[in-house]
Amino acid sequence: MKIAIASGKGGTGKTTLATSLSSHLSETQDVVLVDLDVEEPNSRLFIRGDQTHSQSICKQVPEWTGDCSLCGQCQEICNFNAVIKVGTQIMLFPELCHSCRACSELCPESALPLKPRKIGMLNQIQAGNLIFVESRLEIGEQQAVPLISQTKDYIDNHFDESYIIIYDSPPGTSCPVIEASKDADFVILVTEPTPFGLYDLKLAVEVMRKMKKDFGVVVNRDGLGNNDVLDYCDMETIPVLARISNDRRIAELYAAGELIFSTIPEFKEQLLLLERSLELSTVVDPV
Ligand code: SF4
Ligand code: SF4
Repeated sequence: MKIAIASGKGGTGKTTLATSLSSHLSETQDVVLVDLDVEEPNSRLFIRGDQTHSQSICKQVPEWTGDCSLCGQCQEICNFNAVIKVGTQIMLFPELCHSCRACSELCPESALPLKPRKIGMLNQIQAGNLIFVESRLEIGEQQAVPLISQTKDYIDNHFDESYIIIYDSPPGTSCPVIEASKDADFVILVTEPTPFGLYDLKLAVEVMRKMKKDFGVVVNRDGLGNNDVLDYCDMETIPVLARISNDRRIAELYAAGELIFSTIPEFKEQLLLLERSLELSTVVDPV
Protein backbone atom coordinates (compact mmCIF):
# COMPACT_ATOMS: atom_id res chain seq x y z
CA MET A 1 0.00 0.00 0.00
CA LYS A 2 1.24 3.47 -0.85
CA ILE A 3 0.14 6.31 1.40
CA ALA A 4 0.96 9.92 0.58
CA ILE A 5 0.93 12.43 3.42
CA ALA A 6 0.26 15.86 2.01
CA SER A 7 -1.05 19.26 3.01
CA GLY A 8 -2.14 22.32 1.15
CA LYS A 9 -0.11 24.42 3.54
CA GLY A 10 3.43 24.04 4.85
CA GLY A 11 4.06 23.71 8.58
CA THR A 12 0.91 21.76 9.40
CA GLY A 13 2.72 18.75 10.89
CA LYS A 14 3.06 16.57 7.80
CA THR A 15 6.57 15.41 8.68
CA THR A 16 5.61 14.82 12.32
CA LEU A 17 2.86 12.51 11.16
CA ALA A 18 4.89 10.80 8.42
CA THR A 19 7.83 9.97 10.67
CA SER A 20 5.63 8.90 13.58
CA LEU A 21 3.30 6.77 11.49
CA SER A 22 6.10 5.02 9.62
CA SER A 23 8.19 4.43 12.73
CA HIS A 24 5.24 3.07 14.65
CA LEU A 25 4.12 0.81 11.81
CA SER A 26 7.68 -0.44 11.34
CA GLU A 27 7.54 -2.00 14.80
CA THR A 28 5.35 -4.74 13.30
CA GLN A 29 5.58 -4.39 9.50
CA ASP A 30 7.99 -3.68 6.66
CA VAL A 31 7.78 0.04 5.99
CA VAL A 32 9.57 2.45 3.70
CA LEU A 33 9.33 6.14 4.49
CA VAL A 34 10.18 8.34 1.50
CA ASP A 35 10.82 12.04 1.93
CA LEU A 36 9.64 13.55 -1.35
CA ASP A 37 9.75 17.12 -0.07
CA VAL A 38 12.95 17.32 -2.11
CA GLU A 39 13.39 21.08 -1.87
CA GLU A 40 13.57 20.92 1.90
CA PRO A 41 13.61 17.32 3.16
CA ASN A 42 13.58 17.17 6.96
CA SER A 43 12.25 13.73 7.92
CA ARG A 44 15.85 12.67 8.41
CA LEU A 45 16.07 14.85 11.50
CA PHE A 46 13.81 12.33 13.23
CA ILE A 47 15.15 9.08 11.75
CA ARG A 48 18.37 7.78 13.23
CA GLY A 49 20.09 4.96 11.42
CA ASP A 50 22.90 3.96 9.12
CA GLN A 51 23.20 5.07 5.53
CA THR A 52 23.14 1.99 3.30
CA HIS A 53 23.02 3.57 -0.15
CA SER A 54 23.60 6.88 -1.88
CA GLN A 55 23.43 7.87 -5.54
CA SER A 56 23.23 10.91 -7.77
CA ILE A 57 20.02 11.55 -9.69
CA CYS A 58 20.36 13.09 -13.14
CA LYS A 59 18.10 14.35 -15.87
CA GLN A 60 18.93 14.45 -19.57
CA VAL A 61 19.46 17.92 -21.01
CA PRO A 62 20.73 19.01 -24.44
CA GLU A 63 24.19 20.42 -24.96
CA TRP A 64 24.99 22.54 -28.00
CA THR A 65 27.92 21.25 -30.05
CA GLY A 66 28.22 24.44 -32.12
CA ASP A 67 28.01 22.45 -35.37
CA CYS A 68 24.79 24.25 -36.27
CA SER A 69 22.99 25.78 -39.25
CA LEU A 70 21.14 28.27 -37.00
CA CYS A 71 17.79 27.17 -38.43
CA GLY A 72 16.04 28.07 -35.16
CA GLN A 73 13.86 24.93 -34.98
CA CYS A 74 15.06 24.13 -31.48
CA GLN A 75 13.89 27.51 -30.18
CA GLU A 76 10.53 27.13 -31.92
CA ILE A 77 9.82 23.66 -30.55
CA CYS A 78 10.80 24.28 -26.93
CA ASN A 79 7.72 25.09 -24.86
CA PHE A 80 9.80 26.12 -21.88
CA ASN A 81 12.15 28.72 -23.37
CA ALA A 82 15.04 26.52 -22.36
CA VAL A 83 16.78 26.97 -25.70
CA ILE A 84 17.08 30.25 -27.59
CA LYS A 85 18.97 31.51 -30.61
CA VAL A 86 20.95 34.66 -29.92
CA GLY A 87 22.78 35.93 -33.00
CA THR A 88 25.06 33.10 -34.08
CA GLN A 89 24.83 31.29 -30.77
CA ILE A 90 22.38 28.80 -29.25
CA MET A 91 21.91 29.41 -25.55
CA LEU A 92 20.63 26.66 -23.27
CA PHE A 93 19.01 27.05 -19.85
CA PRO A 94 19.19 23.55 -18.38
CA GLU A 95 17.28 24.57 -15.21
CA LEU A 96 14.24 25.25 -17.40
CA CYS A 97 14.60 22.12 -19.53
CA HIS A 98 11.91 19.46 -19.04
CA SER A 99 13.95 16.78 -20.81
CA CYS A 100 11.27 16.29 -23.45
CA ARG A 101 14.02 15.58 -26.02
CA ALA A 102 12.15 17.42 -28.79
CA CYS A 103 14.94 19.84 -29.70
CA SER A 104 17.52 17.08 -29.69
CA GLU A 105 15.42 14.76 -31.87
CA LEU A 106 14.42 17.48 -34.35
CA CYS A 107 17.75 19.20 -34.81
CA PRO A 108 18.70 18.59 -38.46
CA GLU A 109 22.42 18.84 -37.63
CA SER A 110 22.31 16.63 -34.52
CA ALA A 111 23.84 19.56 -32.73
CA LEU A 112 21.93 19.07 -29.46
CA PRO A 113 22.90 15.69 -28.00
CA LEU A 114 21.46 14.91 -24.58
CA LYS A 115 23.82 14.74 -21.62
CA PRO A 116 23.11 13.83 -17.99
CA ARG A 117 22.92 16.70 -15.53
CA LYS A 118 22.91 16.04 -11.79
CA ILE A 119 19.76 17.38 -10.14
CA GLY A 120 19.97 15.81 -6.71
CA MET A 121 21.11 13.06 -4.37
CA LEU A 122 19.16 10.05 -3.14
CA ASN A 123 20.10 8.51 0.21
CA GLN A 124 18.81 5.35 1.86
CA ILE A 125 18.99 4.81 5.61
CA GLN A 126 18.21 1.74 7.67
CA ALA A 127 16.72 2.61 11.05
CA GLY A 128 15.80 -0.64 12.76
CA ASN A 129 13.03 -2.21 10.72
CA LEU A 130 12.28 1.09 8.99
CA ILE A 131 13.82 1.90 5.63
CA PHE A 132 14.09 5.59 4.98
CA VAL A 133 14.77 7.11 1.55
CA GLU A 134 15.20 10.81 0.94
CA SER A 135 16.07 12.86 -2.11
CA ARG A 136 17.56 16.30 -1.94
CA LEU A 137 17.46 18.79 -4.84
CA GLU A 138 20.75 20.40 -5.83
CA ILE A 139 21.05 24.05 -4.85
CA GLY A 140 19.98 26.21 -7.81
CA GLU A 141 17.86 23.51 -9.45
CA GLN A 142 14.31 24.69 -10.03
CA GLN A 143 12.38 21.55 -10.88
CA ALA A 144 11.41 19.19 -8.09
CA VAL A 145 9.23 16.95 -10.28
CA PRO A 146 11.97 15.00 -12.14
CA LEU A 147 13.70 14.22 -8.85
CA ILE A 148 10.44 13.14 -7.21
CA SER A 149 9.59 11.00 -10.22
CA GLN A 150 12.98 9.26 -10.26
CA THR A 151 12.88 8.72 -6.50
CA LYS A 152 9.54 6.95 -6.89
CA ASP A 153 11.02 4.84 -9.70
CA TYR A 154 13.81 3.84 -7.30
CA ILE A 155 11.21 2.82 -4.71
CA ASP A 156 9.20 0.81 -7.26
CA ASN A 157 12.35 -0.97 -8.45
CA HIS A 158 13.61 -1.87 -4.98
CA PHE A 159 10.56 -2.55 -2.82
CA ASP A 160 7.75 -4.91 -3.68
CA GLU A 161 4.12 -4.89 -2.60
CA SER A 162 4.89 -6.47 0.77
CA TYR A 163 6.12 -3.06 1.98
CA ILE A 164 3.97 -0.22 3.21
CA ILE A 165 5.30 2.84 1.40
CA ILE A 166 4.72 6.22 3.02
CA TYR A 167 5.46 9.35 1.00
CA ASP A 168 6.14 12.54 2.91
CA SER A 169 4.94 14.81 0.09
CA PRO A 170 5.87 18.42 -0.62
CA PRO A 171 3.40 21.03 0.64
CA GLY A 172 1.11 22.98 -1.66
CA THR A 173 -1.14 22.00 -4.54
CA SER A 174 1.19 22.37 -7.52
CA CYS A 175 3.10 19.91 -9.71
CA PRO A 176 5.42 18.45 -7.00
CA VAL A 177 2.56 17.35 -4.75
CA ILE A 178 0.63 15.97 -7.72
CA GLU A 179 3.68 13.98 -8.80
CA ALA A 180 4.19 12.73 -5.23
CA SER A 181 0.62 11.56 -4.74
CA LYS A 182 -0.54 10.50 -8.20
CA ASP A 183 0.10 6.78 -7.69
CA ALA A 184 -0.76 6.67 -3.97
CA ASP A 185 -3.55 4.34 -2.90
CA PHE A 186 -4.59 6.80 -0.23
CA VAL A 187 -3.73 10.40 0.60
CA ILE A 188 -3.75 11.81 4.12
CA LEU A 189 -4.24 15.58 4.13
CA VAL A 190 -2.83 17.14 7.26
CA THR A 191 -4.34 20.44 8.26
CA GLU A 192 -4.78 22.71 11.26
CA PRO A 193 -8.00 24.28 12.54
CA THR A 194 -7.24 27.83 11.48
CA PRO A 195 -8.58 29.99 8.62
CA PHE A 196 -5.30 29.47 6.71
CA GLY A 197 -5.48 25.74 7.33
CA LEU A 198 -9.06 25.59 6.06
CA TYR A 199 -8.34 27.70 2.99
CA ASP A 200 -5.43 25.51 1.92
CA LEU A 201 -7.27 22.33 2.83
CA LYS A 202 -10.05 23.28 0.42
CA LEU A 203 -7.49 23.69 -2.36
CA ALA A 204 -5.89 20.35 -1.54
CA VAL A 205 -9.31 18.64 -1.47
CA GLU A 206 -10.09 20.11 -4.88
CA VAL A 207 -6.84 18.68 -6.27
CA MET A 208 -7.44 15.24 -4.74
CA ARG A 209 -10.96 15.13 -6.16
CA LYS A 210 -9.68 16.08 -9.61
CA MET A 211 -7.10 13.30 -9.29
CA LYS A 212 -9.87 10.92 -8.13
CA LYS A 213 -7.87 9.97 -5.06
CA ASP A 214 -9.15 8.33 -1.90
CA PHE A 215 -8.25 10.68 0.90
CA GLY A 216 -8.95 11.65 4.49
CA VAL A 217 -7.96 14.43 6.85
CA VAL A 218 -5.84 14.53 9.97
CA VAL A 219 -6.36 17.64 12.08
CA ASN A 220 -3.17 18.70 13.79
CA ARG A 221 -3.05 21.19 16.68
CA ASP A 222 -6.67 20.33 17.41
CA GLY A 223 -8.20 22.86 19.81
CA LEU A 224 -6.05 25.72 18.54
CA GLY A 225 -8.57 27.64 16.43
CA ASN A 226 -12.21 26.98 15.67
CA ASN A 227 -14.45 24.18 14.36
CA ASP A 228 -14.57 25.36 10.75
CA VAL A 229 -12.28 22.59 9.47
CA LEU A 230 -14.38 19.91 11.17
CA ASP A 231 -17.61 21.49 9.93
CA TYR A 232 -16.20 21.63 6.39
CA CYS A 233 -15.16 17.96 6.50
CA ASP A 234 -18.57 17.03 7.86
CA MET A 235 -20.34 19.01 5.14
CA GLU A 236 -18.17 17.52 2.40
CA THR A 237 -18.33 13.99 3.92
CA ILE A 238 -14.55 13.85 4.18
CA PRO A 239 -13.39 11.37 6.83
CA VAL A 240 -11.47 12.90 9.72
CA LEU A 241 -9.02 10.11 10.49
CA ALA A 242 -7.37 11.54 13.60
CA ARG A 243 -7.18 14.70 15.69
CA ILE A 244 -3.84 15.53 17.26
CA SER A 245 -4.10 17.91 20.20
CA ASN A 246 -2.42 21.28 20.32
CA ASP A 247 0.01 20.17 22.99
CA ARG A 248 3.18 22.03 23.95
CA ARG A 249 4.92 18.71 24.73
CA ILE A 250 4.56 17.71 21.05
CA ALA A 251 6.23 20.96 19.95
CA GLU A 252 9.05 20.42 22.44
CA LEU A 253 9.69 16.85 21.26
CA TYR A 254 9.53 17.98 17.62
CA ALA A 255 12.04 20.75 18.31
CA ALA A 256 14.35 18.18 19.90
CA GLY A 257 14.05 15.89 16.85
CA GLU A 258 12.32 13.17 18.89
CA LEU A 259 9.54 10.83 17.82
CA ILE A 260 6.40 11.73 19.69
CA PHE A 261 4.32 8.57 19.99
CA SER A 262 6.72 6.86 22.39
CA THR A 263 6.40 9.70 24.92
CA ILE A 264 2.86 11.04 24.58
CA PRO A 265 0.10 8.41 24.96
CA GLU A 266 -2.64 10.67 23.55
CA PHE A 267 -0.63 11.06 20.34
CA LYS A 268 -0.16 7.29 20.11
CA GLU A 269 -3.92 6.78 20.53
CA GLN A 270 -4.53 9.02 17.52
CA LEU A 271 -1.91 7.12 15.52
CA LEU A 272 -3.65 3.85 16.32
CA LEU A 273 -6.96 5.38 15.30
CA LEU A 274 -5.42 6.48 12.02
CA GLU A 275 -3.90 3.05 11.39
CA ARG A 276 -7.25 1.37 12.01
CA SER A 277 -8.94 3.84 9.67
CA LEU A 278 -6.45 3.21 6.88
CA GLU A 279 -7.29 -0.47 6.89
CA LEU A 280 -10.83 0.59 6.10
CA SER A 281 -9.68 2.97 3.37
CA THR A 282 -12.32 5.62 2.78
CA VAL A 283 -15.11 3.84 4.62
CA VAL A 284 -14.50 5.65 7.87
CA ASP A 285 -16.81 7.22 10.37
CA PRO A 286 -15.83 10.76 11.25
CA VAL A 287 -14.27 10.95 14.74
S1 SF4 B 1 17.79 22.99 -34.39
FE1 SF4 B 1 19.95 22.39 -34.43
S2 SF4 B 1 20.73 23.29 -36.27
FE2 SF4 B 1 18.82 24.33 -35.90
S3 SF4 B 1 19.41 26.12 -34.65
FE3 SF4 B 1 18.94 24.51 -33.22
S4 SF4 B 1 20.90 23.55 -32.78
FE4 SF4 B 1 21.16 24.73 -34.65
S1 SF4 C 1 14.69 18.87 -24.26
FE1 SF4 C 1 12.65 19.79 -24.48
S2 SF4 C 1 12.49 21.16 -22.74
FE2 SF4 C 1 14.65 20.67 -22.93
S3 SF4 C 1 15.47 22.32 -24.17
FE3 SF4 C 1 14.91 20.68 -25.57
S4 SF4 C 1 12.81 21.15 -26.22
FE4 SF4 C 1 13.26 22.39 -24.42
